Amino acid sequence: MSVWALALHGGAGAIAERVYREEEAHMADLLEDGAALLAGGASALDVVTAMAEALEACGLHQAGKGSAPNADGDVELDASIMDGPTRAAGAVAALRGFISPVRVARGVMEQTSHVLLVGKGAEAFAASKSFPRVEDPKNYYKTAASGMASVNSGTIGAVARDRQGRLAAATSTGGLQGKLPGRVGDTPIIGAGCWADERAAVSCTGLGEYFMRVNAAADVSARIAYAGASLADAAQAVIDDVRNLGGFGGLIAVDKHGNVATPFASQGMKRGIATSSGVRDVKTFR
Ligand code: ASP
Repeated sequence: MSVWALALHGGAGAIAERVYREEEAHMADLLEDGAALLAGGASALDVVTAMAEALEACGLHQAGKGSAPNADGDVELDASIMDGPTRAAGAVAALRGFISPVRVARGVMEQTSHVLLVGKGAEAFAASKSFPRVEDPKNYYKTAASGMASVNSGTIGAVARDRQGRLAAATSTGGLQGKLPGRVGDTPIIGAGCWADERAAVSCTGLGEYFMRVNAAADVSARIAYAGASLADAAQAVIDDVRNLGGFGGLIAVDKHGNVATPFASQGMKRGIATSSGVRDVKTFR
């Protein structure tokens, strides 16, 4: 009977001139899968992993298959995952050539004593554990062909509270289109683009340089802990901070009670919510 809640995002780079029907339909289907898993007692960690992996694979967002290239024409991927009850975390940055960066991030969390692996080291680890590779990058990544090249951001993320009250978060991205080779944003930085503890689970999207400078994801939980803020107020205050510095973006967050917040300061943010009280909501704009 315990409550559960799930939120997903497909990035805060949505632009008003575009229609996101396909993305919204896919997210609605995915939410149903996630809802069934959570209702059946699956762990928040497993559900955010599965949701993030599916969002990476769909090619509809700037992550996994949908990733756009950097200034050299290469796709470099960042991802992270965090388990609230244990605060175990794993992340990869500037990873090339693997299908599911979030799966590799979870591998770093569970199969190493480290939190973050980057570049060649991350690739060597992923290869050693036989994570599936992108065999033919030129044909695998759907960048210009899908029109996504005109959207310079669109990270994906998932946050969940499971029936046992455990929280987890996952975030994955191709980063900013045309970024300098080696550029790493907030997505794989635990505390900036991804956070989960006993109070809140948070996944961010937007101009990563700003989210790093406000330590956005962890700050949501800190505001709850130290200022006694509600989830909604804490999440909005963090996005206000990003906007006041000149950045843009949004986040999805869930707290220990199963409350969900999805504030954003951008034209739109592809997002969806499902809860045990029957909420099903998928939107891109306000
Ligand atoms: N936050 C991501 C980054 O800076 C981009 C995004 O969310 O669209 O890499």
